[in-house]
Amino acid sequence: MRQEIEKKLNLDAIDIYGLSEVMGPGVSVECLEAKKGLHIFEDHFIPEIIHPNTGEVLPYGESGELVFTTITKEAFPLLRYRTRDITTLNPDPCICGRTLVRMDKVRGRSDDMLIIRGVNVFPSQIESVIMQTKGVEPHYQLIVDRKDNLDTLTVRVEINEKLFSDEVKKLQELENRISKDIKETLGVSAKVQLAEPKSIARSEGKAARVIDNRKI
Ligand SMILES: [Zn+2]
Repeated sequence: MRQEIEKKLNLDAIDIYGLSEVMGPGVSVECLEAKKGLHIFEDHFIPEIIHPNTGEVLPYGESGELVFTTITKEAFPLLRYRTRDITTLNPDPCICGRTLVRMDKVRGRSDDMLIIRGVNVFPSQIESVIMQTKGVEPHYQLIVDRKDNLDTLTVRVEINEKLFSDEVKKLQELENRISKDIKETLGVSAKVQLAEPKSIARSEGKAARVIDNRKI
């Protein structure tokens, strides 16, 4: 996506990172010279990488959850705030001359939040939309993919026996209604596919409900 933006707009695109709890964008940013990792402004933020389950602080280079303590932030300081973002820290000298530690592009989350076209989506939000719909079962699967640099979300929902025997037109209406409810509640477009009764594997933990085919 970066290469395409740079080519089409004839500019140098750099990655910027931030989170609204800290200050929004600008917590770290790539340098133009290297574009290899985002320099964290350590004069304002102390970064740490921890093991998401044990909380143990991990050494440089190891992948874990990014934690920030703010040094200069007033009124709303944060102490060891867990971002839930998974990345690594790299203290090696950079060709740009900056000595600020670099974080890798965020590779995932330590909770089950998905980012779909820039929108934060928790599977539980989709679940609550499904639960409000008559005739469908609380069994679902989310399939995330990326086509032409755009994320796509498909929601497979199981319907009950009674509904399954209904006419096709009615089922299509139901698909459209769930899709509309998801859009209105979460602000994200999703393709809804109704599935036969008992066709979706019963989930053993949250992760099984999400299939993320994106290669980031
Ligand atoms: Zn640099």
